[in-house]
Amino acid sequence: MSHEDTLGKDIPYDEVEVDDDESVNFAVRLDNASRTYFIGKRQIDALKNVTLEIRPGDFVAVSGHSGSGKTTLLNVIGAIDYATSGRVYVMDVPIGDYDETFRATFRLANTGFIFQSYNLVSTLTALENVMFPMQLTDRPLKDLEKESLDLLARVKLDERADHLPWQLSSGEQQRVAIARAMANDPPIILADEPTANLDAVSAEMVRELLRELHGTGKAVITMTHDENLVSTKGARTFTMENGVLSENV
Ligand code: ADP
Ligand code: MG
Repeated sequence: MSHEDTLGKDIPYDEVEVDDDESVNFAVRLDNASRTYFIGKRQIDALKNVTLEIRPGDFVAVSGHSGSGKTTLLNVIGAIDYATSGRVYVMDVPIGDYDETFRATFRLANTGFIFQSYNLVSTLTALENVMFPMQLTDRPLKDLEKESLDLLARVKLDERADHLPWQLSSGEQQRVAIARAMANDPPIILADEPTANLDAVSAEMVRELLRELHGTGKAVITMTHDENLVSTKGARTFTMENGVLSENV
């Protein structure tokens, strides 16, 4: 299906899934991407001409002061936000060319998001939170439940499947969020300061899980101040300063 055909239409799930990772050049590519916000007449240049190439399987850590544009960058990569100029490609697809319907479906299939404050749905159990991103598939509920339970087992929380978020510690909530990010087996994991709110032991578990995901061939892109995460073996490290991204070499 050509991408031009998809504008404004309902996109079947399997058509936004890029299933042959081998043929993908870049997991993420930004070409002079900028993001400008306006608050009244005040202009904020949150991203300034960011050019970036991330290969499938790269581990990328971006550090920078609060307000430097890290979350904006992650949201633009994850198609939650958009670039106001320049081009953004995810799995070689120019996601800025599509409407929100396509972008929403594309993002569920291709990216798993992990947030600083977990962002679990408070009225859903751990299992239901993990199942949540699977809702666009037409597979039987039983299969989705089984798969979600397997994902919870990977973060060692299968015995807490029926617990609500408030019944879990911060570290456990973040591990549920990681299991949720693995739903649909996306090739890209995006993590926004994933260890910032955690105690030392939980933070180490989260780092280990991110490294494990990297080990399975996923591109892991994390915004972080956590030196122990930045120093991950093989990581490409970047600094964000005032909307300008530079690679540390
Ligand atoms: P970081 O994650 O590094 O702390 P952010 O990406 O959240 O930085 O923010 C970068 C800049 O963009 C900040 O000045 C912030 O106030 C501004 N900003 C972020 N999101 C918005 C928005 N939705 N509307 C207006 N300004 C925003
Ligand atoms: Mg931020």
